[in-house]
Amino acid sequence: MAVRHLGISFLVLFLFSPSAGIAQEPHGAKPASKQIARPRTEAAKPAPKANLPNIILITLDTTRADRMGFLGSTKGLTPNLDAMAKQALVFPHAYSHVPITTASHTTILTGTFPQYNRVNDFGVPLSDKLPYLPDLLHHRGYHTGAFVSSIILDPLDGTAPGFDRGFDVYDAGFRKRPRGADRYKTIERRAGDVVNHALGWLSQLPDGPFFLWVHLYDAHDPYDPPSPYKERFASAPYDGEIAYADASVGKLLGELRKHGLYDETMIAVMADHGESLGAHGENTHGIFLYDETLHVPLMIKLPLNRDAGTRVDARVGLVDVAPTLLQAAGIAVPKEMQGQSALELMKDGATQDRPAYAETDYPHRGFGWSSLRALRTGKYLYVQAPERELYNQANDPGELHNLASQSAAVADTLSGQLQDFRARTSQTLVELAKPDPEQMQKLQSLGYVASSTAETQDDKKLSGADPKGKIQISNDLHDAMLDVEDARYQEAVPLLQTILKEEPSMPVANMQYGIAQARLGNFREALAPLQKAIKTLPDNTLGRYELGLALFESGDWKGAAPEFEAVVERAPRWTDAHFSLAAVYARIDRVPEAMTELDTTLSLNPDHYRANLLRGRILSLQRNPVAAVTNLEKAAKVQPASREAHLFLADAYQQLGRVVDAQHELAEAKKLSGPTPQ
Ligand SMILES: [Zn+2]
Repeated sequence: MAVRHLGISFLVLFLFSPSAGIAQEPHGAKPASKQIARPRTEAAKPAPKANLPNIILITLDTTRADRMGFLGSTKGLTPNLDAMAKQALVFPHAYSHVPITTASHTTILTGTFPQYNRVNDFGVPLSDKLPYLPDLLHHRGYHTGAFVSSIILDPLDGTAPGFDRGFDVYDAGFRKRPRGADRYKTIERRAGDVVNHALGWLSQLPDGPFFLWVHLYDAHDPYDPPSPYKERFASAPYDGEIAYADASVGKLLGELRKHGLYDETMIAVMADHGESLGAHGENTHGIFLYDETLHVPLMIKLPLNRDAGTRVDARVGLVDVAPTLLQAAGIAVPKEMQGQSALELMKDGATQDRPAYAETDYPHRGFGWSSLRALRTGKYLYVQAPERELYNQANDPGELHNLASQSAAVADTLSGQLQDFRARTSQTLVELAKPDPEQMQKLQSLGYVASSTAETQDDKKLSGADPKGKIQISNDLHDAMLDVEDARYQEAVPLLQTILKEEPSMPVANMQYGIAQARLGNFREALAPLQKAIKTLPDNTLGRYELGLALFESGDWKGAAPEFEAVVERAPRWTDAHFSLAAVYARIDRVPEAMTELDTTLSLNPDHYRANLLRGRILSLQRNPVAAVTNLEKAAKVQPASREAHLFLADAYQQLGRVVDAQHELAEAKKLSGPTPQ
């Protein structure tokens, strides 16, 4: 290759900063039908078996059980769900195992507990060794589609890597939110739009059973329902979001009825977790394990509405959902699934008490406090915390009177049961989650902490302050995070400074502070807090991505490379991360590696504007105009208003001797304003 030894980096220059246009490269804000990523497994798909029922899984984010009419609420928020409940099995005592969106959806879709699947935070990859409902159904010949409504369930941007396994279509396509941009066109989609996307997919399906997952994020804060719910629920916007989500579910169910699909289809509806709304001092969810965030709505309408209206009084968990759906569909439940089919429970007559386990690592990972664990059994809720808690739910449903010291013997017994349960249910997972030795070495060289034994890790998680005494700090931090999310960085900075004064090592506060400073252009100020956060959370892909950008922008190009390398290792389908790594490599004269990363970027998204532009420019500088033109023409087509694309294209045409074309491109470039790229 005749690369003139000026070094490519000096020629491509800052135009290709990895962060330039961080918010400009949506990986698919297009109609759902265009997003069909045809499955790699299509060829191997067996012919559909007769009599497999269609399955719809509806997850209502952040939705409390006590807002459901079919569970006794008199607020009248859920007429559509209430009507469906008459044809469904209803579970009045259903519990989430973890009050965090990604983690809870993992338990729902894998039928495994958090201590087994180890997905305890955003950005933790879902191991492909875990049983996964969409993948199992896909292998049985199902058409599979996911329609999610928040960036935090996007498998392609580092927040939910691995979630798209087994899906023909995974409709996400979210992007970071630039200042002033509409929340519902960037990081979140309203229920109505999600349902419309799903209906569009359903309308085009070929023959054969389908599995549809619809995720509605509306009830998650900020509580901001659209009209007319905004006005109707002006004093209770959280309720308004639930009423709006119910109406959207009603639209989906109505369309199914219209097409004669409703009765035959199995439909499961549940929340991933609830919302505290100030109870126990917690504003939202994630820290505590009380009923406000763990008692969730759950109903399952069986094919042909079998056992319509049956109430199953046994305590069940979201881990039981996947086994129930599989058994009801007549498909064998993988032995790795830890939940139990509710159909079995009905056979047993539900005489036995079924304890429900829950945990949250968020206080530890986010704040450096102690993780919490809980067991609901008999009439008791036991919470393992630095100051342990015991509540008699039979006469203290609000969980307000801690009996742990006066009933120490009961607390001891439940503590023992909780340990036993964890010991029985965490076992295989360490092996599952552990990468092979080669992978392990690679991760270590990228700065990931080698995982010690599960036991030591667990002990570490349980050290630290009791979240009970700190809850106001987490509320304040949540407010600051919303400011960062809404691009109010100036407002976020002083809030975060106050928090960090009190808790200087708090990982999430450091991360958010670093991000806010970086967005304000203060990259050097962003470095220390981001590095501090990453030291505690080395597996946090989003944090490492931000750190990579900040290092690059403050001139440490070589330091940026390993951060992006770590990110693509963990989230191999994150397009912009591959591009960022390519831009860094190009800058530090590792051109062949840059080309490899650009190829990966373009294999994930052939329309990636900056990847086409950079690849074309490098080829052009390598005197390979024939290949360069393909990328540059694509770049100019994707962003016709890009002056750079036309200028670079002119140069490539010139090299090919296509003088007229070159002049045309120069004229195009002249029409567009902006500084001349160097
Ligand atoms: Zn959630």
